Order: sequence, then structure tokens, then C-alpha cells
Amino acid sequence: MSRDADYVYRFEEGSREMRELLGGKGANLAEMTRVLGAGRVPPGFTITTAACVDYMRGAAFPEGLEDQIAEAVQRLEETAKGRLGDPQDPLLVSVRSGARASMPGMLDSILNLGLNDASVEGLAQRTGSARFAWDSYRRLVQMFGDVVHGVEPERFESALREARDAKGVAEDTGLDADDLKRLTERFKEIFAEDVGHELAQEPDDQLREAIRAVFDSWNGERARDYRRINRIPDDWGTAVNVQRMVFGNRGEDSGSGVAFSRDESTGAPEPSGDFLVNAQGEDVVAGIRNTEDLAGFAARMPAVHAELIEILATLEGHYGDMQDVEFTVEEGRLYVLQTRNAKRPAQAAVRFARDAVDEGLLDRAQALMTIDAGALEALLHPTFDPETRYDVVARGVPASPGAAKGAIVFSAAEAMRRGGDGEAVILVRPFTEADDVAGFHAASGILTSEGGKSSHAALVARGMGRPCVAGASSVEIDPERGVMRVDGAELSAGALIGIDGSSGAVTLDDVPLVNPEIGEDFDEILAWADECRRLGVRANADNPRDAARASSFGAEGIGLCRTEHMFFGEDRDGLVKDMFIAAERWRRARVAARVGDRPADVDVEAERRFHDALAALGKLQRADFEGIFHAMAPHPVTIRLLDPPLHEFLPVEHFEAEAERMLAEGRHDEAQEARDRLVVAGELKEANPMLGLRGARLGILFWPLYEMQVRAIVEAALAVGEAAEAPEVEIMLPLIAFEGEMEALRSSVAEVVEAIVSESASSAEFAVGTMIEVPRACLIAERLAARADFFSFGTNDLTQMVSGLSRDDAEGSFLPEYLARRLIPATPFETIDEEGVGQLVRLAAERGRGANPELRLGICGEHGGDPESVAFFHSVGLDYVSCSPYRVPIARVAAAQAAIR
Ligand code: ADP
Ligand code: MG
Ligand code: MG
Repeated sequence: MSRDADYVYRFEEGSREMRELLGGKGANLAEMTRVLGAGRVPPGFTITTAACVDYMRGAAFPEGLEDQIAEAVQRLEETAKGRLGDPQDPLLVSVRSGARASMPGMLDSILNLGLNDASVEGLAQRTGSARFAWDSYRRLVQMFGDVVHGVEPERFESALREARDAKGVAEDTGLDADDLKRLTERFKEIFAEDVGHELAQEPDDQLREAIRAVFDSWNGERARDYRRINRIPDDWGTAVNVQRMVFGNRGEDSGSGVAFSRDESTGAPEPSGDFLVNAQGEDVVAGIRNTEDLAGFAARMPAVHAELIEILATLEGHYGDMQDVEFTVEEGRLYVLQTRNAKRPAQAAVRFARDAVDEGLLDRAQALMTIDAGALEALLHPTFDPETRYDVVARGVPASPGAAKGAIVFSAAEAMRRGGDGEAVILVRPFTEADDVAGFHAASGILTSEGGKSSHAALVARGMGRPCVAGASSVEIDPERGVMRVDGAELSAGALIGIDGSSGAVTLDDVPLVNPEIGEDFDEILAWADECRRLGVRANADNPRDAARASSFGAEGIGLCRTEHMFFGEDRDGLVKDMFIAAERWRRARVAARVGDRPADVDVEAERRFHDALAALGKLQRADFEGIFHAMAPHPVTIRLLDPPLHEFLPVEHFEAEAERMLAEGRHDEAQEARDRLVVAGELKEANPMLGLRGARLGILFWPLYEMQVRAIVEAALAVGEAAEAPEVEIMLPLIAFEGEMEALRSSVAEVVEAIVSESASSAEFAVGTMIEVPRACLIAERLAARADFFSFGTNDLTQMVSGLSRDDAEGSFLPEYLARRLIPATPFETIDEEGVGQLVRLAAERGRGANPELRLGICGEHGGDPESVAFFHSVGLDYVSCSPYRVPIARVAAAQAAIR
């Protein structure tokens, strides 16, 4: 037989591999038809996604489709021994949409298609149940009106309510044949009023209209929105399944239900589900009557229940995954209408994977592949005790997951003071800025009344794994007065507050917290992941506490320790400001000396001040590093030399206020000095700090600053090495763009290291490498690699620079619009932009390795904890990813999945 294209497949002809063509539902109906044998799955056929695509292209049924449908209907009539529209004994069908991926917004199924004013009588006669026949017909009118023509569902529902009230019954089952017949008439009136014409009486017309409506729903607003959010291409199209009806609404020995092959919320190996007697289709999930659980179903229909349990096991074994099944019982006979891999919370996913291996259902690699790595995050944060009820006084954006409670504090300083004493505190601010970061460390959680998911508070909180609710706009926060107002209550510092960064809830109740634990099952699965993966997994951590957490989550080192966070904090603030002012004066004196008009005393004075400030900071830094090395030993630690946004350390307003204060207090000499400082700060102020004097540039201009850091690192490492195993330390130069920068800094660093190490008895070695975060660095990777022991791709900055996107600005303004209009597939700051940034990473990795085969390659942007990006980094052949401590387990699983794939 020759055809233009095969647009229609009978269930017997398909299989689960044909998902793209038959959609998920169609492919699984076909698969089940083969696996469960004839008779378990009502017969039918699938109209392919290709038919939908061609329909959309031509705005009409493509050539040959009508004929193929007619032919398939004829064959179905033969198998089912009934004819569509037969007035005596009508064949009825369902029309069910089913795209490749399940998708809300696609058309709901239409059941009982084929009924009309004549065949409803035939159906009543043949089945001996007029009630059943009219119930089926009223459902068809209702569903066809609602689904195909968009009649307001409430119109039908209220007519149904009226019928029940008139009869004085609480449930639909209380209506008899006559009631339902009258109701059908009423439904038909509503249909005609709303749609403008009667329900088509010719079954072929009903079928054609329904199929067309399914195709059209692919481009409905809800479906399009969903595809955008979930990054499903618009050109997949949906399939349509046409299937002989089976009837759960035929009385007390019939019904419909849903079942899971294992407990869907815990993953425990007991099937669970719901059943509703004498019901059709979605009744069971619609909550119109109380359903029975599987135990109730077993008591009612023991034999059918036993069959169901067996089928669940068969399907689970066949698919190698937990199944979610829809079934219908018609007069004691069990039919399976759908199966799919069950959605499950992280807990259940882990439990299932573990059990499946124990039971011999899956091997470890297969079991790992059943887990949604990204969803594991839910297991890694504290939560409010799910058993406890509490009042929600405000809601904000769930900006960083996990729950926290503690005393309200309104400033970073207060957070550090109270938090330092071991008290749990929640930092409450209208919004946060760089200065507040030290407070984040000390706080258990962060609440803001402004901003959203990409506000400063949200970004920093996520990076540190602190729960955060952002933009809770009904909370009034007045940090100056030290009060906040919410829900009619006025609270001062110290009052108890709780936030849930997973839901956005704010509460004043003392809700118990449940701490995350990597339970035994999860631990086992992570161990399997470690066996499978090739990529190393490190963490980004700037302090001993995060380092310890990362280590407990299985990090194999620190891939990025940012030293600028060590420069924040009340105790260091003054010191750091003094140091930068001194640094700049020192630099100017040197420049002046070079051109020959140096006043010698300024030089000496500037040098002394710079030196003193560095000495004081150096002591603190050394203690910081010792803490980190202790926490991470014996794993490698990559320490990035200072890369501060200078403007955050030297806010001009600060120096202005300082000068004014001195003046007001009559301290004239100091005021003069303060004004001088203001001038220096003003001159260091940049139009575009992110592209200004930072990273390596700072190291070149203010070399003694980097020298101090290198000294602190090396001394700390040697000290730790004396008492315990010596840490493996990598010194990382940030923001290198030019070969000359690399050359100059690398040799300066080497000199310092060499000097200290040779004085000690140690033979310690210190690797020196660079962060790759400027496009130019990627392009000259082979030259940089010749002078580097390692590269670490800083994909946050690299993403900003490759596309010229300022993250802080873009995420709040035009990126959402870009996403909405699908100009870009995803936020490039969450999932690596493979075509752009990814291409540069690949190129730099190849060129770098080409020039230096020993070159170690890692990535330390936020992408290191994103499963999709991890898969990409695996494919590029990097050695490791580094992510925030909380994402380490996710990265371990994602890396394993990438290797298995
Ligand atoms: P969804 O994608 O929303 O699950 P389905 O196509 O599975 O939609 O159909 C919705 C409901 O209709 C389900 O409860 C299903 O069991 C029922 N249903 C679909 N086809 C038939 C059929 N041929 N016989 C009886 N019930 C059916
Ligand atoms: Mg279904
Ligand atoms: Mg950077």
C-alpha cells in the first residue's frame, strides 16, 4: 500500500521508542499493548506529531490524513465489533492529546465520542442501563463544549448542581436515568447558546472537530507558556490518540482509578493509589466524591486489585522505573489506560533508586539515571517541620531554599555581633548591598522587602546556601529606627521570626526546624555516583564553616576561595579602606618618583602607611587561610587573589560623611586628612567598575597587596603542614586578559613563594594558575597555559563579558522579556550558554591543553552546580566543576549521569 506519509499508527504498530512520533501517551499505549497483551489496553490508534506539524503548516488536515483516519476507524470497528454512530450498538471512543513531553495546556481528553441523540438510545438498550447511557451522553456534551469550544465549565457545573438540588441528592450518582436525560437536554441548550450551533450529531464530524481542536491546542496560550518555561521546542507538535471507550460508570462493579507502583511521596515499595467506584475519567482526581485507597479497592474488588498489583509490577519492571498508571474497571474487568514514569519528590527518587538496585531491578548506573539531579537540592536544606501548623504573616519570593528562624537583626554588624555569640539571627533589610555580605555569613537567613530572585540578597544567599525570602513587600522595614511592621505587629530587633526560602512564607511562630541529613540511602547513591563520574567536584567556599559543610557533602576540594569576602566585616572595614587609600597614595608617589618630581617624605610616609595596613591585614588573612586549610585538608584549595569591585570598598559618600563629621566636631587636622582621603577615593571612582581596576590589574598596580596575600597563603599552608598533612594549594590570578599580566604576576608570585619556602625546611609546592573569565583570555589560552598550572573558568564573568550582559542589570530588566519572547532559551547565568560561552570554554580548553598537557581545567561559576551545564563540562573534558557547598551532591550525581550517558 502506498501512502504520502504514515500519519496514523495502530497501537499494535508502535512502541515506546517512538515517543517523538507518537507522543508520550501514544508510545506508552503501544508499548503496554505489547507488554500486557491484548485485552488489557482498549484498542485504538495514534495520529502522529508529524500530522500535527503538517496541519499547523498548512492550517488544514494534510493530504491523506482524512483517509488514513477513516481506514483506522474502520479497523477499530472491526476489532471492537461495533460501529461509530451505530444507532443500535455504537462504538464510542476517547480522543486524547499526547505530546512528546506531558504538558499542561494541551487539550483535555474527550470521552464517549460517537454518541448522539439516536445512539444514546441504542447504548441504553444494549447495556440495559439507560442511566449509564445518559450519563455518558451528558458527559460528552459537557466535555465537547468545554474542551473543544471553550464553554465556561461552570455553566455545566451549575446545571448539574441544580439537578442534584432539585432531586435532593448530594452526589451525581444519586441522579437516575430520567434526571440525566433532562440534564443532557439542558447541557445541549447551554452548548447551543454558547457555541452558536448544536453539538455535531455525525460521529465523523465529532471526531474531526476533536482532532482539529487537539492540534490547535498545541498553540494555545497555556501550552506555549509552559513550553517557554520548560524549554520545549514549539515545533514538536502533539499526537492524538483515539481509543475505544471502556466504562467505569457502569455501576457498582465498575470504576476508575490511578495507582503508583510505589508510594509516590516516600518511594517505599508499596503500591499506592485512589479508586472511585462507578466513575469515569477524571472523576477520581476531581474530588467530587471521596475516593478509596488501594486497601479499600482491595476490599471491594479483591481479584481485580490483585491483577492491578501484578500489572504495576510488570510495568515497573519493564520500564525500569516507578510507574504512574491510570486504570478503569468495567463490570469487573480491568483495563489500563495510561502509564508513565512517576513524578516524585527527591526523597522518593532516592529511595526508589536504592531499592531498585537492591531488588535487582536496575543496576547502579540505571538507577542513577532515574534521579532528577536538580531536584535533590530539596534534601539539602533545613525545612519547617511538616507536622507543625503556623501562621503566615507575609509572603515574598522564595529566593534561596531552606527554612530558618531566629532573632531579627537589622544590620550586618548586629548580625555579626549576635551571630558571633552563637545566636540564630535573621538579617532583615529592605534590600542588601555588598557591605551586608559579612552579615549573611553570620545570619541563618535573610529577609528583604524589595527585590526578587535575582536581587543581591538572593544571589549571595544562594551562593552561601542561606535561606532567603526576598521582596516580601507587605513587610515594612525601618533599619534606622530598628523596627519592622508586618500584619499589624511592630517588631524590634531580637524578636523571633521564621522564613521559608522554599515557599516564600514569613512567620512569627516558633516552628521547629528539621535538619537535612544525607540519609543512608542518599549516601549510598552518592557513593555510586562517585564510582561512575569522571569529573571532579569541588566547592566554592570562602570561610571555614562553608568549607566544612562542603567537605561533609563530599567536595573534593575548594575550587574557588574568594578573598574579597575576607575583606568585608566591621573589624576589617576601616583597615581595608585605609589600605586602599594608602595603596593609591603609594602608587602615585612612585609614579611621581619615576617622572622625577618626587617629594621624598611623601614617598616614605605613603610607603609606611601602605605597609602598616598590609601587615595588619596580612595577620588576619593568614588566620583565615589556616582555617580554610584545616577544614579542607588534605584536599586541594584554590585561592583567588583579591578581585574586588573597588567602588564597594571605597564609597565616596563614606569619605564625604567622614570629612563632614570631623569638621563638625572641630577636629580640623583630621578633617583635612579626611578630605585628602575623599579626593583619593573620588579619583579611584570608576565609570564602570566591573571593567575597571580589579583583578590582575589591581595586582599589577598595587603589587604589595598581592604580595601580602601570597605571603599569608604560603605561611598559613606551611604552618598547617607542620601540624598536619600539608594542604595542596593553588594560587589563582583573577581577570587575566593579556599574556604580559600573566607573565609579570606569575614570576612575582613565584619569587615570593620561593623566598618563603626556601627559608623553611619545607618542600611544599604551590601551583599558580589563572581564572579564565575574559574572552580574550580564551583566545590566547595557549600562551597563558604555557605559564599556568591550571585554568579555572569563571563562567559568571565570562558570561557577562561574552554577551555584554551586566548580570545585576539584565536579570532585573530585559532578560525576563527575552525569555518570555523566547529570544533566548534560558538565563545564561543559570545554564551555560553553550553556543557562546561554551564555545569559548571548549576552545580555551583545547588550546590550553595543547600548549600544556599537564594543565588542570576546572570551572567555578554558578554553572558548576547546574546539571545541564555539568553535562556540558563533562563533554568538554574539564577535570572538575566547583559549585556552592549545597550543590555539591547535585553536581556529583549530575557528573555521574553525564558519564553514564
Ligand atoms: P491526561 O493526559 O489528562 O491524563 P487522559 O487522556 O489520560 O488525559 O484522559 C483523561 C481521563 O480519561 C483519564 O482518567 C483516562 O483514564 C480517561 N480515559 C481516556 N481514554 C479512555 C477510554 N478509552 N476509556 C475510558 N476512559 C478513558
Ligand atoms: Mg491520563
Ligand atoms: Mg570574576
